[in-house]
Order: sequence, then C-alpha cells, then structure tokens
Amino acid sequence: MSINIAIDGPAGAGKSTIAKMVSARLGYIYVDTGALYRAVALYITENNISDSDIPSSLKNADVSLGFIDGVQRVFLGDRDVSDMIRTPEISMSASRTSAIPAVREYLFSTQQKIALENNVIMDGRDIGTVVLPNADVKIFLTATPEERAKRRYMELAVKPDSPSYEEILSDIKKRDFNDTNRTTAPLRQADDAVLVDTTKLTLEESADIIIKIISEKVGV
Ligand code: C5P
Repeated sequence: MSINIAIDGPAGAGKSTIAKMVSARLGYIYVDTGALYRAVALYITENNISDSDIPSSLKNADVSLGFIDGVQRVFLGDRDVSDMIRTPEISMSASRTSAIPAVREYLFSTQQKIALENNVIMDGRDIGTVVLPNADVKIFLTATPEERAKRRYMELAVKPDSPSYEEILSDIKKRDFNDTNRTTAPLRQADDAVLVDTTKLTLEESADIIIKIISEKVGV
C-alpha cells in the first residue's frame, strides 16, 4: 500500500516549495496538482474555447503528468508545457476554469492513479477533502494574504516588469475568493487535517513541522 500525504491550502502559502523539501527528505514523489489545472487553462486559452464548449472539448485536451528524475512535468499531448503555465494570466484563468465541474472530473482519475501507485506528497486545494479522502496524513497549509503577497513580491521583484505588491495582493485575494466560494470541491480544511500556519515560519521550520506530523502519524 502506498503512503499518501495531502497538502492543501491557498495560493502562495508555500505549499509547493515546502512539499518539495519534505518529499526530497522522505523519498516520496511530489505531485503539484495545480499544474494540471494550469495545463487545462492553457489548452482552453490556446484553443479559444468558450465556457459552454469546455466540457465537450476536454476529451481532446490530452493532459498528462510525467516524472523526469523524480521531477514532475506536465504535458499537453507530447508537448511539455511545464514552464509556459507559470504566468499570471494562466494563474487567473486556472482559478476560474477549475470551478467547472467537468474540468475537475476530467483531472480526478489522473491524480488518484498516481497516488494509488506511489508514495506521494500531493498538493492542491481539494486533495484531503475530495481526491484522497483516505490520505494517511492531511495538512492544511496557510499564511495571511499579506504575507503570501509579500513572499510572491520578493520572488518576482528581481524580474523586469514585475507586478506591484498591491497587484499581487489583489490577485491572491481574488484567487482565494474563487477557490473558497466555488460550489464543486471548494478550498477548505478537511476535518481531519492538521493546520500549519506559516506566516511567521521559515521554509525550513515549516518543513520540519510537517515531517514531524508525518512521522508521528505514519512512523517514517
Ligand atoms: O496551485 P496553483 O496555484 O498552481 O493552482 C492553480 C489553480 O488551480 C488554483 O488557483 C486553483 O483554482 C486550481 N486548483 C484547484 N484544485 C487543485 C489545485 C489547483 O482548483 N487541487
């Protein structure tokens, strides 16, 4: 039986960085489910698909995940789109299109299959509540919107044309609103998830806390 760790939480809480650190230490596969929603958003954008046509078009999207040296890549057909999906436009588009039930249904089995076959740390919004309700450990990772915006701002500030702190904060709040208020699989802490607030923690401290929670529950 594979061991499944679910990490959910809002955008910018540090899920992917912390989950990568934890999975490297435990030797588990890290699965970033947001990349799947982003790839669907890219497919919809590139093909100019209207909202009403999204459900019927998904059968042609051919979204899949691959792992190269243990690092996740996401594909549309045989095209590796892992880097192209990291734009603010795709972030907002994924936040909107991920609310469509047909999109969530389309990506459901891909996520479940990976978790069934591997020891995984899977991050997203609905992993502990919907995708892996029987996960061995569930973490809900959060931080204040201001702290999340500050971190994103510092990350992006070195790049030309980087957005202002206010723009980033406003985007984060919009995405939080979309994720928590959608009808299908909204972002929420599972009843049996452990809350980790990283507002005042470093990445290393957050990773240590999570490793401790995991080792207490599954003895790794
Ligand atoms: O995690 P990331 O910010 O890359 O996710 C992009 C978008 O995909 C999120 O804003 C969210 O709306 C959606 N998502 C989701 N369920 C997941 C993972 C991501 O709805 N499990």
